[in-house]
Amino acid sequence: MRKYVIMGVQGSGKGTQSKLLCSAYSMVHISVGDLFRWHVQNHTKLGAQVKRTMNAGELVGDDQVEAVVRQRLDQHDWNYGFVIDGFPRNARQAEFFMESYDIDAVIHLEIPDDEVRRRVLSRRLCPNCGMDYNLIADRPSEAGKCDICGHELVTRPDDTPEALDARLHDYHEQTRPVLELFARKEPVVKVDAQPDADSVQASIRKALGL
Ligand code: AMP
Repeated sequence: MRKYVIMGVQGSGKGTQSKLLCSAYSMVHISVGDLFRWHVQNHTKLGAQVKRTMNAGELVGDDQVEAVVRQRLDQHDWNYGFVIDGFPRNARQAEFFMESYDIDAVIHLEIPDDEVRRRVLSRRLCPNCGMDYNLIADRPSEAGKCDICGHELVTRPDDTPEALDARLHDYHEQTRPVLELFARKEPVVKVDAQPDADSVQASIRKALGL
């Protein structure tokens, strides 16, 4: 069983890299942002509580995050392990996580802020089937339409320049100290996230000795 945390600012490719790694090694990809988006889309009580915070690009409260993560990991459907993405995002979340779970390594995707802006502002999502697109690297065959289900593509409500600035600020302020905390206890592997997705994936596997 393998247990990894993947960290990096939005747009660094955490989701893409986690999915590639999980499908190769039968691990479960746990994206905390996706868990919250599910709650918002399904109009749950928690969804109503976090919607505005998420749309502003701000961080959801630690108690709500811990509850969602604990509930997800308690399902124990991760026989071959998991890659957790988008968590922990601050020192308190990291402490909770390290108290409750052992992990094998932290994967840190490194990317300059300017490249993040370029990538994130060209990101599009299919609200129907969840497929991700990018107008620079991964365009849909027909402009504005999902290749899989034909639904109209949308911009994530938190992929605006203002929300992105808020997230970059939070990342640098709060998430970097998390890396320092982890580095005292767990192996942290740094990977350059600027090359194409397959090259980044190869670097991750090499760094993890897979
Ligand atoms: P993401 O898909 O990882 O960009 O997450 C989308 C949004 O969900 C974030 O902007 C936050 O509002 C919320 N969120 C996801 N993970 C966390 C976390 N670990 N702590 C606080 N808020 C989170």
